[in-house]
Amino acid sequence: MSTLKAVRGTRDLLPPETELWNRIESTARTIFARYNFGEIRTPIFEDTQLFARGVGEDTDIVSKEMYTWEDRPRAQSDKAQSLTLRPENTAGVVRAYIEHRLGESGLLQKLYYVGPQFRRERPQKGRYRQFYQIGAEVIGPPSAGSESPLHDAELLEMLASFLDELGITGWKLLINSVGSATDRPRYIAVLREALRAVAPQMCGDCQRRAETNPLRVLDCKVPEDQPIIETLPRIADYLDEASQTHFAAVRAALDACGVTYEISHRLVRGLDYYTRTTFEFQVNNEEGGLGAQNALLGGGRYDGLSEMIGGPKAPGIGFAIGADRLVLTLEAQSGEISPTLADAYIAPLGESLNLAALVLAREFRRAGLRIEVGDGSFRLKKSFETGDKLARNIVLLGEDELQSGMLTIKNFASGVQTKIVREQAASALAAPHE
Ligand code: AMP
Repeated sequence: MSTLKAVRGTRDLLPPETELWNRIESTARTIFARYNFGEIRTPIFEDTQLFARGVGEDTDIVSKEMYTWEDRPRAQSDKAQSLTLRPENTAGVVRAYIEHRLGESGLLQKLYYVGPQFRRERPQKGRYRQFYQIGAEVIGPPSAGSESPLHDAELLEMLASFLDELGITGWKLLINSVGSATDRPRYIAVLREALRAVAPQMCGDCQRRAETNPLRVLDCKVPEDQPIIETLPRIADYLDEASQTHFAAVRAALDACGVTYEISHRLVRGLDYYTRTTFEFQVNNEEGGLGAQNALLGGGRYDGLSEMIGGPKAPGIGFAIGADRLVLTLEAQSGEISPTLADAYIAPLGESLNLAALVLAREFRRAGLRIEVGDGSFRLKKSFETGDKLARNIVLLGEDELQSGMLTIKNFASGVQTKIVREQAASALAAPHE
């Protein structure tokens, strides 16, 4: 029988790498809490219509990459429905915002999420079909100040602090403005017109996008197309005054906070809902270990998204961090992750001491120690070998130790062996504080 494997584009995350995943997620939670965000958890699948309307029918995500199925009714109360594994989480958060009438509080909603997303893309390093995003959204009625450029800057400043806190070096922030809901169609019309002349000399994807979604041409990475793309009209020249003022205010606030950035005219991003500010944090390839996938995270404003999916006016801005790419970058920048050693390995000297070892382990664990319990059937040599792989110390538990209440502890690194009263053992075994 052929062996079963994880499906192409998905993978198992194993220790010790999962320790890095946990560190990234807990750093995100800590930093986001400082900016007063709360966590939201939305379902992993949604009505297909949510993404078709929110993300946009012509985007690569919706037209090619979604995992969609027809859910047949199983009970009378069920309806046949087209469902989709979420390819991103902003649409789901905005759906929840509308469904729970969060705007009625009159306050801004600051929500973050952590979880898997699904896109049927061609898998490569840093690009998977099940991948993980850590994201946040600031959304609310205009009366709560949701359109203010200060939120754009605050979010970017938060992200800079997050990457710094994690220890990611050499990151670069790119920003742009894609204008208002009226600027963008004006620009797209001009771009489509300009592409008519040059598209036949471009790659197949660009030829198709020139018609279906001209903004996507600006994302093309094919080297031969780059000189042509440089000659295309720039969105900056088609922004109305309000969008220009908004963008200038974002930049001024970033300058005031000392967050450095570059303006990238080509940063239009792949989702239809973006308006005004768009941004991306990248790491350079040599430092990041990401190969072609050098975008760590991306996001932007979506002032019309709520209305696109049938909700009230609720401007917002958000981002999604590619957690898989953060892990790859941290691994490339800080080297191998070594597994965490237990504080102690308890070696019962004989099977009759197995239960006593379990009781001792319970005592230590309740005192906060990380403990591995050995096996009384092991010879002493095997206990030492196993203990050395798993823990910093070995605690020998024989009849003598049990009777006398004195434990024998050996530290593997120093080779020092000591006898210690059982009551004091836990504090002696605790990892030294750094
Ligand atoms: P997006 O939702 O397309 O704006 O992407 C936001 C971030 O998610 C990107 O900058 C990547 O870091 C990450 N990302 C998007 N697609 C994938 C994927 N297929 N595999 C891994 N990470 C991804």
